[in-house]
Amino acid sequence: MAKRIKISFLGGVGEIGKNITCIEHGEDIIVVDAGLTFPDNEETPGIEYVIPDYTYLLNNRSKIKGIFITHGHEDHIGALPFLLKDIKVPVYGSPLALGILESKLKEFKVEDYTLYPVEDRDVIPAGKMSVEFIRVTHSIAGSYALAIWTPKGTIFMTGDFKIDHTPIDGKTTDLTRIAQIGEEGVLLLMADSTNVEKPGYSMSESNVFKALDNLFVQNKDKRIIVATFASNVHRVQQIINCAVLHDRKVAFAGRSLQKIAEIALDLGELHYPEDAVIDIDKIGKYDLDKLCVICTGTQGEPMSALTRMSENEFPKLEVGDYDTVLMSSSAIPGNEKTIFGVINNLNKRGAEVVYQALAEIHSSGHACREELKLIFSLLKPSYFIPVHGEYRHLKMHKELAMEIGMGASRIFIAQNGNSVEVDSTGIRVGCNVPCGQTLFDGKYLVEDVNGLIGDRKALATSGCVIATVFINPETYREPVIVTRGINIPDEVRAEITEEIVTEIQSGKLTEAGMDGAKQYVRKLLAKKIQKRLDKRPVIVPIVFE
Ligand SMILES: [Zn+2]
Ligand SMILES: [Zn+2]
Repeated sequence: MAKRIKISFLGGVGEIGKNITCIEHGEDIIVVDAGLTFPDNEETPGIEYVIPDYTYLLNNRSKIKGIFITHGHEDHIGALPFLLKDIKVPVYGSPLALGILESKLKEFKVEDYTLYPVEDRDVIPAGKMSVEFIRVTHSIAGSYALAIWTPKGTIFMTGDFKIDHTPIDGKTTDLTRIAQIGEEGVLLLMADSTNVEKPGYSMSESNVFKALDNLFVQNKDKRIIVATFASNVHRVQQIINCAVLHDRKVAFAGRSLQKIAEIALDLGELHYPEDAVIDIDKIGKYDLDKLCVICTGTQGEPMSALTRMSENEFPKLEVGDYDTVLMSSSAIPGNEKTIFGVINNLNKRGAEVVYQALAEIHSSGHACREELKLIFSLLKPSYFIPVHGEYRHLKMHKELAMEIGMGASRIFIAQNGNSVEVDSTGIRVGCNVPCGQTLFDGKYLVEDVNGLIGDRKALATSGCVIATVFINPETYREPVIVTRGINIPDEVRAEITEEIVTEIQSGKLTEAGMDGAKQYVRKLLAKKIQKRLDKRPVIVPIVFE
């Protein structure tokens, strides 16, 4: 029997982050995106980022025909420096996405890779399937939807998109091609669910200029600092245009911003007169009201330029009452508290801060409900899987599809690790594939995820107790208990010491041997501290004979 198409979700469903999807037919696998997630500081404290578990790809590496990148955001390319160390396959994507990826590969010292830049409507063969790149608008230039031509029908993945009729570079979503593909017939649609809760249409990126321009007029006597995402090249372009119009020099603060601006300038995605941008080290030579500093840190990232400015720890400039800070972004859900912390600190230094709640200085890169409906009616897919959303987004996107006439049995809400099989006769659940998360911490991947996170949480809430114990009754010395981040009152300390000493004198600890004694001391301390202080610290027993 001819093979169905199997789609496996290694990440990116039930979450916004670490997008990675496999499309498989017979002996061929196509991988779409391989992204990372920035972790939640409460769930995984201190972790730099989370990458998807790609065991499934390692187990099937000989089938992989290529990795197809929709665009250059971290949640779509961030896992590639790891994946490409393990699997040698070609990567296809827009020049900007590949430019950003290549600078990451260099940073991670990945040397052996092949990147193929694509253009609008390019079709790349991949075994018995092929992949067409269809231009879409999004909050980064060089974004594509993918039409995957398979022997069983066409699969359309929107990637992250919006329908912006007046994008900054004039390169609109290729609705003509999307309509043609719809006419030819689409088996399955997988579409971006990020903004499914938002009615109507997303605001055009061009509208941001008016709001920016107004703020530049209102703040003509101030230095203006604009915070945005480094990868939002069109936003950076608009800020530069506005600065030039108002006779201000632009300086970039922050390494990622400088790097992406260089890549974009090289590729012709960013344009400005040579003397419009000055080095951040030279800002002292200009009057404050002749400057516009562009920086990163819209999400309150601890190491970003804006956060450091707010704490007066950014060496290149000091924020004061002569500054107006424009936050040209919106808060990614979960980051609000940190962002408001940064805004409070900037206010304390005397700066005015304008954020989205106060002006239209940001437009989202994701389609709202009416745009999602338009894509649906152009493509008229037989089956639908909502992607790129938390569970509530996926559910709401399913309801939207039903609202415009699709039967519930034709829609599948996937979870990470699910695989589905689809052809013209139906969509059904296949065997699950391995999925999960791998943590990147301290510049290395972590093997024992639960151990590390468990210890880190225990350290944060209960501190650490180190007990040095000499177990030989003949060479007896008093146990030494050192603590960090936990308060053990003298009376409790005395009780613990006394119990250990009693055990040593009875000879029990010597009998137990070194490992046994360690276990014993750990248990004794854990029990005692929990009983007396209701705390569960990390306990490190050190045993000497
Ligand atoms: Zn995304
Ligand atoms: Zn994106």
